Amino acid sequence: MTELDELAELAKRRGFFFQSNEAYGGTAGFYTYGPEGAALKRNLEDTWRDIFVREEGHMELEAPTVMPEAVFEASGHLDGFDDMIIECAECGATHRADHLVEDEIEGIEDAEAYDPEEVGQLIADHEIECPSCGAPLADEPVEEFNLMFGTNIGPGSSSPGYLRPETAQGIFVEFPRLKEYARNQLPFGVAQIGRAYRNEISPRRALVRVREFTQAELEHFIDPEHDEPPLERVADVEVPLYSAEAQQADDGEMETYTIREAVDKGVIASDWVAYYLGRSMEFYERIGIDMERFRYRQHLPGELAHYAADCWDAETELGGNWIEVTGFAYRSDYDLKKHGEYSEEDFTLFRQYDEKKTVERATVDPDMSYLGPEFGGKAGDIADALEALAGRDRSAFEGEEVTVDVDGESYTVPVEKTGFTVEEQTESGEHITPHVVEPSFGVGRLVYSVLIHSHGSDVVDDEERSFLELPADMAPTTVAVFPLMTKDGLDDRAEAVARQLRAEGFEVAYDDTGNIGRRYRRQDEVGTPYCVTVDYETQEDDTVTVRERDSTDQERVALDELPAALRRLVAGESLSDL
Ligand code: AMP
Repeated sequence: MTELDELAELAKRRGFFFQSNEAYGGTAGFYTYGPEGAALKRNLEDTWRDIFVREEGHMELEAPTVMPEAVFEASGHLDGFDDMIIECAECGATHRADHLVEDEIEGIEDAEAYDPEEVGQLIADHEIECPSCGAPLADEPVEEFNLMFGTNIGPGSSSPGYLRPETAQGIFVEFPRLKEYARNQLPFGVAQIGRAYRNEISPRRALVRVREFTQAELEHFIDPEHDEPPLERVADVEVPLYSAEAQQADDGEMETYTIREAVDKGVIASDWVAYYLGRSMEFYERIGIDMERFRYRQHLPGELAHYAADCWDAETELGGNWIEVTGFAYRSDYDLKKHGEYSEEDFTLFRQYDEKKTVERATVDPDMSYLGPEFGGKAGDIADALEALAGRDRSAFEGEEVTVDVDGESYTVPVEKTGFTVEEQTESGEHITPHVVEPSFGVGRLVYSVLIHSHGSDVVDDEERSFLELPADMAPTTVAVFPLMTKDGLDDRAEAVARQLRAEGFEVAYDDTGNIGRRYRRQDEVGTPYCVTVDYETQEDDTVTVRERDSTDQERVALDELPAALRRLVAGESLSDL
């Protein structure tokens, strides 16, 4: 069995995650987190919140998952959020055409950047067959398929809506209100952890490509000319970088840089992206990613999303493949500008100048008693066009006449009838559209990576043991309590210990079934870092055995010191230090 198969089996058997709706045959691309998985996911989200919201002093909101069509017209998703699909005429299976080409043709890694026609041609030239039934696909068309799930808001079909394909839009559309909460001061960050939906053509690799998943996204709004990230906080953090240049070179490799070096050498173009790549290292380490199986990869030019100016992905290695777990994008002012244009609301902020400025402003005050009779119904539009032209190009008013275009027609007006003047004005600031830096984490892919990276096996007392080496504050259960026997009052005593530890805030499991060795193995398998056994000695001297998952060492600890001892262990001390 491969490591992925082993984990899938463990995940199902021990309740980490499994395909949803199995009673009805299962639904591809949907997974349910069982009790262990839901707890692990919650711990991972709490760690994310701790680093990216609390420590950074950002805000967090919770927006609806259904949004009206207008939002996605503005964001570009309605037009551009497509993948390439090919359908097999023989068996009806649908496939990601770009993935088929990548899987089947040596040397092609970013077919997503190609045109559908090119991909269709490659499928024909290489005689690629349907992975489901083996029929030739050469004659099938490759088409664009929009990944958004559509719905109707309310009865009838007059208000189309979509399940959001990313949580980010729920933040962008509320910018006019959010800037008020930030007292109109940049920079500020707004985070959200929530569900996103993509009608993926071919869901695959368990939690990696699903149709409903959780994202943890941060939108950090900045003034691109004045705001700088506190780079010194991460200057010495080492990051494994696989740059676009290295990817395109024959012998290019991933290289480790400090953030300072990467910025100085221009490997990471944006200081803000560099800051978050640095900050995120702590997050990946804390949640239990194996940093030997981790890298940051820069997007190749053709790979950039429709909104992104520079983008890096965090990737983890899973079963021999590199999988994107986080996208770090410099989204510039794309989203706020678009929502400003489409909604006609104010998505700008007022930036105060250090000193007031005196500027010359060209304005017009057209003589409507001339424009009206001369141009009839077009007079108003012509006046507006003159106003816009004065702001843009005052030299147009230097001659006797000025010409403007309205709806494709040219209209000429004597300059003396335009009321053109240049005035001096004092200005205290200007309106700017903030830029956005976005780290976007896929929570499910991270949960999956942590599980695979922490899964291992060894032999203890001549028996094979399977374990999850999860960090103590990530594990679904922190401490399991066992009575050695379910008699002589040991079980009552053990239950009392479990109750006490719960009251102290620990995540506790109680297990009195099977022999002690089996109970240990059960806890090792779900990653419980500590087990406490109540035995006959407990009744004599009020001590218990504490056993550590990773070393399998055991120590006696006095019951009245147990909560404090466990806290020290969770904080990183080992059993032998107690
Ligand atoms: P993107 O907007 O495509 O850059 O996605 C942001 C993050 O969401 C990625 O880094 C992934 O971790 C996650 N993600 C995207 N698509 C899926 C999917 N179909 N299933 C699970 N996670 C996904």
